[in-house]
Amino acid sequence: MNQENIDIPEANLDYRDCDQQIWEEELADFVPSRILDSHIHFFWSADLPGAPQGLPTNPQIKTKDNDLNTLNQWAKILYPGRRMQYLILGSPGSDVTRHVESVRREIKEIPGIRYNRLVTPSCKLEDIERDLKNPQFIGLKPYRTYSVTGDIDHCRIHEFLPHEQMEFANQHGLWVTMHLARQHGCADHHNLKDLEEYTTNRYPNIKWLLAHCARSFTYWPIREAIKHLRDMPNIHYDTSAVTDVRPYITLLTQEDPHRIFWGSDGVGAAFFHGHYAALGRAWQHSDADQGGLQFPHCDGRPILSVYEQLMSLKFAVEVAELSKDQVEGLFWRNAANALGIDDQELATND
Ligand SMILES: [Zn+2]
Repeated sequence: MNQENIDIPEANLDYRDCDQQIWEEELADFVPSRILDSHIHFFWSADLPGAPQGLPTNPQIKTKDNDLNTLNQWAKILYPGRRMQYLILGSPGSDVTRHVESVRREIKEIPGIRYNRLVTPSCKLEDIERDLKNPQFIGLKPYRTYSVTGDIDHCRIHEFLPHEQMEFANQHGLWVTMHLARQHGCADHHNLKDLEEYTTNRYPNIKWLLAHCARSFTYWPIREAIKHLRDMPNIHYDTSAVTDVRPYITLLTQEDPHRIFWGSDGVGAAFFHGHYAALGRAWQHSDADQGGLQFPHCDGRPILSVYEQLMSLKFAVEVAELSKDQVEGLFWRNAANALGIDDQELATND
């Protein structure tokens, strides 16, 4: 998308001097000129169930909408001069039909953008099949919050991505972005057993993209699981929202780096000032603007969570001694090759 056509309401983007300092001093030399964000969301309040249709959206609520213009505005400020591509993920809570239609219209004929369709267990296969005929739609995005068991914390994969949808995905070689449930995430023995069964036996054509470093916001789950996951075919990881350096070190030193894709989880989950704090084996979203924090010993200027994420990735890259070429792989080439986005589709964002 040409930036000249982008209307930038600067007031909506909370980008501070301290963010800019970190970008210029730490990150500008690290982040390559091209980025494929493999985990980012659109959101329209008008697509929420019960929202009035055919009326202009409430301007108060509209400020929270995230369309392609919003993502490009953020990208222009977060990663100045970088050329952007996206794998958009469906947003939970929306009316599925309306959300899918909004995404279809928003990305129509725009190169370099793909979408993993929002699915719930109640989606009809014929509707999914019709939508997936669109070549920009390449996979599915289920959410544990739709688990048929009603237990969103302890559900297994098939309880929020039913077997008939996995069969369909297997038949068509689709992607599935999977945010694992259950307390131990990728280290949970049911999740590992299910993934092993699906990747090696039952659904060998599904391409799994395990969100949030296989949902490892702390050192522990991925350290337990990596010896199993790395032997499974068709497993990939996105980096979305993880700000602790340790999961990155485990992944970059013990996995094939080609299976790791940059993802930010923008806007709501990563473009705030704070981070995802690791507390032993637990973790917690920590918004520095809301914690009543005091900084008696230092210059108290927390930075954007997505910059914390980039900083941790940079440190892990140094520990793992990845080459510049491998870093390009993390930020775009691994995903571009895997998702089938060729160089002709490079949109400009400068
Ligand atoms: Zn997300």
